[in-house]
Amino acid sequence: MNSLDIFPIPAFADNYIWALRESGGAVAVVDPGDAAPVLDCLAQTRSRLCAILVTHHHPDHVGGIADLIARYPVPVYGPAIEAIAGVDRPLADGDSVVLADLGIEFEVLSVPGHTRGHIAYYRRGMLFCGDTLFGAGCGRLFEGTPAQMHASLARIAALPRDTALYCAHEYTQTNLRFAIAVEPDNADIRRRSEDTASLRARGEASVPSTLALELATNPFLRSEAATVAAAAQARLGRPAADPVEVFAAIREWRNRV
Ligand code: ZN
Ligand code: FE
Repeated sequence: MNSLDIFPIPAFADNYIWALRESGGAVAVVDPGDAAPVLDCLAQTRSRLCAILVTHHHPDHVGGIADLIARYPVPVYGPAIEAIAGVDRPLADGDSVVLADLGIEFEVLSVPGHTRGHIAYYRRGMLFCGDTLFGAGCGRLFEGTPAQMHASLARIAALPRDTALYCAHEYTQTNLRFAIAVEPDNADIRRRSEDTASLRARGEASVPSTLALELATNPFLRSEAATVAAAAQARLGRPAADPVEVFAAIREWRNRV
């Protein structure tokens, strides 16, 4: 069995294009917003592209597809219900993606909220979650409702706790400042904040994180926690009716800081 190396290719100010490379040199990339850093990486590692996977239609995730397929005519997987130029393998919830060159298979999870068709790619031990979940945060609700995003995050929260979460942006430090405002007495958040600061000081990515760490420190996965509900109540001026309303109040607060 060939070993699989997974690493981020930085793009723009804070995007990560995740690359999966097997030892023979085949590489799949997730959310290539820009072709140039991917082509540089392929050249430097003497690799060849074998597949492109995208999670949603935003330009910082799909902008590199055209130039990449002009050079490597590979299959491009993406959500069926979003119009994305170049996607020729449209996917819906429950579909599987077989990447024969890498010897792996992903299950497609529909996780609407950030966009209405957003999907994530899951296989035991790893989830490529695009802009649905970030380190200590979650994506903005551009197209979906709080109830949709809450349900999508609940789906992710139900995966095995050791699942590595490959987010598409380096937002963890900023998100942790907000998480501390939501839960000032949460020691796990403070510890993560210190750990993240040292990672970033060394120039290292703060992701992937693990689901276990997110469950302890991500306010958007913690709507059921009494501390988070209390923070939502303080924002609303009354108790929230349910965890969805807690989530909505915290997300709305996050938009304002
Ligand atoms: Zn996005
Ligand atoms: Fe994005």
